[in-house]
Amino acid sequence: MARIAFIGLGNMGGGMAANLAKAGHDVRAFDLSQDALDKAKKAGCLPVNDAIAAIEGAEAVITMLPAGKHVESVYGDSIFEHAEPGTILIDCSTIDVDTARRVAQAATDHGLAAVDAPVSGGIAAANAGTLTFMVGGSATAFDKAEPFLSDMGKSVIHAGANGAGQAAKICNNMILGATMIATCEAFALAEKLGLDPQKFYDVASVSSGQSWSVTSYCPVPGVGPETPADRDYQGGFAAPLMLKDLRLAMEAAGSVNARTPMGARAAELYETFVAGEGAGLDFSGIIKTLR
Ligand code: NAD
Repeated sequence: MARIAFIGLGNMGGGMAANLAKAGHDVRAFDLSQDALDKAKKAGCLPVNDAIAAIEGAEAVITMLPAGKHVESVYGDSIFEHAEPGTILIDCSTIDVDTARRVAQAATDHGLAAVDAPVSGGIAAANAGTLTFMVGGSATAFDKAEPFLSDMGKSVIHAGANGAGQAAKICNNMILGATMIATCEAFALAEKLGLDPQKFYDVASVSSGQSWSVTSYCPVPGVGPETPADRDYQGGFAAPLMLKDLRLAMEAAGSVNARTPMGARAAELYETFVAGEGAGLDFSGIIKTLR
C-alpha cells in the first residue's frame, strides 16, 4: 500500500480520498476548508495543515480542484518543488486542455511524470468508487497511475498523450449537453402533441432517438429509472458544471478552429438557464425552460 497526497476534498475529492483510504492506502489529505478536512479524517485519511505536508514522501499526488488556475497554482507553489523523483502526479480535475499540457510539460521539466485523469460520473460515483477515468500521459505514467485510479473507479481508459484525457472529457460532455437539450425539446413537443411521456419513452429508448439522456437520465419525472427529475431536479450533475464543461469545449474548439455549432448553441442555452433558476438545479432541469 502506498502513501498518497490528496489535495482538494470537495464534493468529488472527499469520496475519492475515502475510497483510497478504504483500499488500505496512507492518504495525507489537504483542503482549504476545515469542514472538508474533518470529513476526510472521519473517512480514514490523515488531514494535514498544508499541501507541502501532504506531498512530502508521497508516491502519488492526486488533485481534485475546481479549475485550471487552482491546479496551476497548487502545482507551481507546492508540488514541483516538494514531490520526490519517481512520484506520479495525477490531476483528476476538469480543466482546459492547454493548462493540462502546460502543467505536464512543467512536470517533465522538473523530472516528474504527470497525467491528466478527469472523471465521468458524479458525486454518487465518486462515493461508490465507480468513476470512469480518461487519462492523458505517456504509457509509463499511465501504468504508474492506473492502480490508484482503479481503487477509485470502475473503468480507467488511456486516451493518449498529455491533454487527451481532458479532450475526451469535454468532447463527451459536449455530446451530453447537446443530447440533453434535444431530449428535453422532444419530450416537451411530444407532450404538446398529446403523447403520453411514458409511451414516448417506451418508443425513443428502443428506437433511433435513443441516447443516455433519454434512457438513463430521462428529464421527465416518473419516466424511466429514477433521476433528478424525480426530485424536482435536485442533486445529480449541477447545471453550472455542465456550463463550465461546455465553455471549456468552446474554448478548445476556438483554439483549433473546429466547427461546433451544436455545442455553441448548447453553451448559449445553458448560459441562460444558469443565469436564472438553473444555478441550483441538475442540468436536466433545462426542460423547464423548453416547456
Ligand atoms: P468542489 O468545489 O466541491 O471541491 C473543490 C475543493 O477544492 C474544495 O473543497 C476547495 O476548498 C478545494 N480547493 C480549492 N483550492 C484549493 C487549494 N489551493 N488547495 C487545497 N484545496 C483547494 O468541486 P467538485 O464538485 O469536487 O469538483 C472538482 C472537479 O471535478 C472540478 O474540476 C469539476 O469540474 C470536476 N467534476 C465534478 C463533478 C461533480 O458532479 N461535482 C463531476 C465530474 C467532474
